[in-house]
Amino acid sequence: MALDGKAALVTGGSRGIGEAVALRLAEDGADVALTYQSNEERAAAVVDRIKALGRRALAVQADSADPRAVREAVAAAAAEFGRLDILVNNAGAGVLGPFGDLTLEDVDRVLAVNVRAPFLAAQAAAHHLTDGGRIINIGSCMAERVAFPGGSLYAMSKTALTGLTKALTRELGPRGINVNLIHPGPIDTDMNPADGESAAMQSGLTALGRYGQPSEIAATVSHLAGDDGRYITGASIAVDGGFAV
Ligand code: NDP
Repeated sequence: MALDGKAALVTGGSRGIGEAVALRLAEDGADVALTYQSNEERAAAVVDRIKALGRRALAVQADSADPRAVREAVAAAAAEFGRLDILVNNAGAGVLGPFGDLTLEDVDRVLAVNVRAPFLAAQAAAHHLTDGGRIINIGSCMAERVAFPGGSLYAMSKTALTGLTKALTRELGPRGINVNLIHPGPIDTDMNPADGESAAMQSGLTALGRYGQPSEIAATVSHLAGDDGRYITGASIAVDGGFAV
C-alpha cells in the first residue's frame, strides 16, 4: 500500500476532518497518532478503528493552544513509532463573529490554535522527518474568499498558513520534505454541520451547490502524503466544491 511503513501524526483527529484523515492514512498503510482536545472517548474509538486495520495507533490529549503540549505530542508520536513521516496540522478553532465583538481572548486563542500550533508542530516534526516527509496544513476556503461577514479573525488565522507553507517549502525542500496547504470548503462536521443555520447559504456559495464530506478532504491528504504527490510542494489546494471561484 502507498503508505506502508510510514508514520503519521494528525492533530485534532478525534472527530470531523481529522478523524477521516487519520482513518484514510491508516487505510493507506500508515501507523497513525492523533491529538485531541477533550473528547477522550471519540479519540479512543478512532484508535480502535485504526488498530482494527492492522496499524499501530496512539491518541494524545494535547490542546493546540498549549505550546508544550504540541511539542510533546510530536515527540510522543515519533517515540511510539520510532519515526515520523507525515504531519497533518488539522486542529482548528472556528471562531466567527462581528469584528467589533471579538475579544482579546478570542484573538489569542484562535491565533494560538490555528497559527502558532502548526508552526510549533512543524518545527518539532522537522527534527524527525526524513527524505519523502510531508507536512500538510489544513487551511480554509475563507483564506481565499470571504463571502460573508464575520470571518475577520478566522480568515486572518488561516491566511497565515499560506505564508508558513510557502516558507517551509523553501526550508525543507532541500531535505526532500514537501509542505502543502489544503483549503476545505464547507465540510459536514460538528464545526459546520450540513443541517446548521447557515448551511443553505454556504452550499449556495459553492459551484457544486453542496457540502463536502470529511472523506473528500482525506482523499487529497492521501494523495499529497503518498508517492504520487512527490512533485507537489508549496501548493494551496482548494477542495471546496468551487467556493472560492
Ligand atoms: P471539528 O470541530 O468537527 O473537529 C475538531 C477536531 O479537532 C476534534 O478532533 C477536536 O478534538 C480537535 N480540536 C479542536 N480544538 C483543538 C485544540 N485546541 N487542540 C487539539 N485538538 C483540537 O472540526 P472540523 O473537522 O470541521 O475542522 C478541522 C479543520 O478543518 C479545522 O482546522 C477547521 O478550521 C478546518 N476547516 C473546516 C471546515 C468545515 O466546514 N468543517 C471548512 C474549512 C476549514 P475534541 O474531539 O477533543 O474536541
